[in-house]
Amino acid sequence: MRFTLKDNLLIPTNTKEDSLPISNITHIPQPMLHPTFLCNPDLQKRLTGKQLLLDDLPFPLSEIQEHYQNGYLTYRKGIVKSGKQFECVRCGNKDPQWFANYPCARCGENCLYCRQCLMMGRISECSPLISWNGPAPETQNPSQIMAWQGTLSEGQKVASDHVVEAIRQNEEHLVWAVCGAGKTEVLFAGIETALAAQKRICIATPRTDVVLELTPRLKAAFPEIPIASLYGGSEDRHLYAPLTIATTHQLLRFYQAFDAIILDEVDAFPYTVEESLQYAAAQARKPLSALIYLTATPNSKWQRECRSGKRAFTTIPARFHRKPLPVPEFVWCGNWSKQLQKGKLPPNVIRWIKTRIQSNKQTLVFFPHIPMMEKALKILRDIHPAIEAVHAEDPDRKGKVQKMRNKEILVLLTTTILERGVTFPNIDVAVVGAEDSIFTESALVQITGRAGRSKDHPSGVVSFFHYGKTEEMLKARKQIMTMNREGVKRGLLDSREGAK
Ligand SMILES: [Zn+2]
Ligand SMILES: [Zn+2]
Repeated sequence: MRFTLKDNLLIPTNTKEDSLPISNITHIPQPMLHPTFLCNPDLQKRLTGKQLLLDDLPFPLSEIQEHYQNGYLTYRKGIVKSGKQFECVRCGNKDPQWFANYPCARCGENCLYCRQCLMMGRISECSPLISWNGPAPETQNPSQIMAWQGTLSEGQKVASDHVVEAIRQNEEHLVWAVCGAGKTEVLFAGIETALAAQKRICIATPRTDVVLELTPRLKAAFPEIPIASLYGGSEDRHLYAPLTIATTHQLLRFYQAFDAIILDEVDAFPYTVEESLQYAAAQARKPLSALIYLTATPNSKWQRECRSGKRAFTTIPARFHRKPLPVPEFVWCGNWSKQLQKGKLPPNVIRWIKTRIQSNKQTLVFFPHIPMMEKALKILRDIHPAIEAVHAEDPDRKGKVQKMRNKEILVLLTTTILERGVTFPNIDVAVVGAEDSIFTESALVQITGRAGRSKDHPSGVVSFFHYGKTEEMLKARKQIMTMNREGVKRGLLDSREGAK
């Protein structure tokens, strides 16, 4: 599509004469809001807090243009150019490698488009990014907002109060909660506060699994509140809701939508990915809004910012059951990968696993890479035929995790795919090759966090088998012990174990 400028308005046109793709227009005029104009409520619901392409909107162009001319919606450039630099306005991509040209039928030019967010529909130099500029649809609160009646641990209560305060004051706050602290409940009071004040709130997480797990829990806690649950291919895409649960990716369709965003598990991805998620969150939140980060394992930069007072944060150093986190032990096992090449596993690894089999204790054994894990599986099946292995591309991944939950699998070998998000009540954990670079501080803290989750089995053995200790292993152990110490100091733990 091309636009021409007339009477300080953008007018769509099909002719090339006196017209340009939107990204080549220097200044895009924004008409004043005409309060007497009757807007289309369907368009209002679909577009409030969003940034969409024409293709996303099943309304005639003439109607969209009419809303623009009456000040009810805005056109922005899909791609901005300054000199030889490009930036995708939707996803924030600036890397020249992620742009490409194609002969575009819509504008008749060799049109530049963004490849990074292509799966959300092609955004190019001639695509206007369309947002709502009129009043938001009116919503009414039910008489009872929250139905949840559980209780919080002392540690959770402190964090919950800080979340409420940050949402009230439109501040940023980090909740650093150990694995198994129960972080979802910590959000409930804050969500209730936001909804009561007619605010729009979003919980965003990198993983679809987490969206699917959180949705029923939030629907149970807030049964009368419309909730949009958004992930690739979800049904709720066009639902206007006061409470949204979305993958961070889906945030790219939002623009200045939320009074509060809760970002869960941002640490789960490498920095480059994190950067684009930060961009997505930044443009999905309103200019005046709260941002709550939730993590068990902030990266070193964030930890430094916490220590130096640059970042507002609350720790929940103890689990709900008031027992300390298991502390990993380091066990040297020689050149295990060389041994694996010869069809052998280090004797102390074998012994460790045999002990678990004999005492019928469920066990997760982590390996850095799939081929090594498969080799180990062959060897271990000679000891016990029912040992299983799982990895990200395993078609039966869900089935195996379920079998582990049902206690039908005794020993499960795994890659980092099970480092987070899974809870088995009573397990021991081993890492073989803990020195591998895939096992970062954050991964190792998460892996250790798989043990001792339930109140009936609050402890568990965690062993890191290694061929040379790494900085990351030491940092992981230190982080865990620091949390245990803080738990003792704040009176949140019943014993001093693991804090020395
Ligand atoms: Zn074009
Ligand atoms: Zn993009």
